[in-house]
Amino acid sequence: MAIDFSFPPEIDEIRFRVRDFIDTVVRPIETRGDEESWGRDQWIHGIIEMRQAALDWGLWLPHMPVEWGGMGLSHVGMASVSAEAAKTRLGPFALNAQAPDEGNMHTLLHWATDEQKEAYLRPLCDGRVRSCFAMTEPEVAGSDPTLIQTRADQDGDEWVIDGHKWFISGARGASFAILIARTEDDPDLPQAANSAFLVDIPHEGWEVVRDVETMSGGHNHCEIRITDLRVHNSKMLGGRGQGHLLGQARLGPARLAHCMRWIGQAETALDMMVDRALNRYSHGSILAEKQGIQWLIADSAMELYQCKLMVLHAAYLIDQGVDFKTEVSMAKHFVANSLWRIIDRAIQVHGALGYSTDTPLAAMLQQARWSRFADGADEIHQMRIAQRTIAAYKDHGTTKAATGNLPL
Ligand SMILES: Cc1cc2nc3c(=O)[nH]c(=O)nc-3n(C[C@H](O)[C@H](O)[C@H](O)COP(=O)(O)OP(=O)(O)OC[C@H]3O[C@@H](n4cnc5c(N)ncnc54)[C@H](O)[C@@H]3O)c2cc1C
Repeated sequence: MAIDFSFPPEIDEIRFRVRDFIDTVVRPIETRGDEESWGRDQWIHGIIEMRQAALDWGLWLPHMPVEWGGMGLSHVGMASVSAEAAKTRLGPFALNAQAPDEGNMHTLLHWATDEQKEAYLRPLCDGRVRSCFAMTEPEVAGSDPTLIQTRADQDGDEWVIDGHKWFISGARGASFAILIARTEDDPDLPQAANSAFLVDIPHEGWEVVRDVETMSGGHNHCEIRITDLRVHNSKMLGGRGQGHLLGQARLGPARLAHCMRWIGQAETALDMMVDRALNRYSHGSILAEKQGIQWLIADSAMELYQCKLMVLHAAYLIDQGVDFKTEVSMAKHFVANSLWRIIDRAIQVHGALGYSTDTPLAAMLQQARWSRFADGADEIHQMRIAQRTIAAYKDHGTTKAATGNLPL
């Protein structure tokens, strides 16, 4: 039997080291306050302190190869690290493994020229700069990148870019963007219309209009106006018309990286749910002894178990270098929805306290809402999963290949 659900000892050692690091270093700094309550200078000082500690603990850049200063972990190894780190808000940031930089680092590693890597990937890995990824536009459906209207037109050895983007995470304070723009008018495939560019920030023609206020406040998801922005040919990332391909290659592992962090959040919510149920007394017994509450706990435990299996299997497929699209889509959809349900149940068990901001649950629920449409809306993943399931049946007379292709 080759099925082994344990991590190798070296991954387990790292997992426990991350857990210890989060408890010893990140939590105490986080509880001092946030940027608003604590003041920007103090807050930045806290971040630097955490990141220096991550270096000292040998936990810097877990997802990148050793030659880039990272730990060289596989996607399965990363699953174990991210689920631990994301139990706190700043954990992934302390390790320099936060979105969108993590996805951008993978993108640059695979698509950038040597010169581009030195200019953009190196400082990102060193933690000296931050980056953003600019694709979504307010005027057209982000779910369909063939509709992108931002244009890049060639003028000698430069490209002139005009357009409008929004919800560009981390744009304020980023030192560069990976920008997706339309370069081809009549491509062979609609998906081959876009190209990617590296844009230094600040840059003439790049205007941050506003930090879009969301249901959980402003979190540096910015609206950007791009006017007559000129970049040299050498700033194209990947080839002409490869913007969609690059976006897809980036999003597969990046979606799974989100799932890994969401598992950490869901586990925190379930732990809180059980803790509250053990400590709250009503109608003659503690809540943990009420069948109605046990159902909430049981449903959450079953869902979290499914989340973990799906994420580990999809990470394993990426590591094996085989097709992982269906499994990542399934994991993204399932984990995003489970996260919402588990936090919601935890709030229910906490009653008024859960609705208050005295616990982190309310903020966690607000954050969880975007997971159901960002980086691929639920319905898009369902559409793709259904298409591949139908194709598997047509090709093989069975849907087996589309349900994880497991030996069952
Ligand atoms: C917190 C957050 C951070 C983000 N960060 C970034 C970032 O850094 N960079 C970036 O470029 N973008 C970012 N985005 C944008 C995100 O990627 C888009 O929201 C996403 O791609 C969906 O696009 P849209 O919002 O235009 O929704 P639309 O494409 O307009 O879709 C709206 C809804 O329509 C439905 N729908 C759409 N198409 C179909 C279909 N074919 N079949 C059935 N139903 C459909 C779905 O229910 C979907 O939720 C971020 C968004 C959020 C909320």
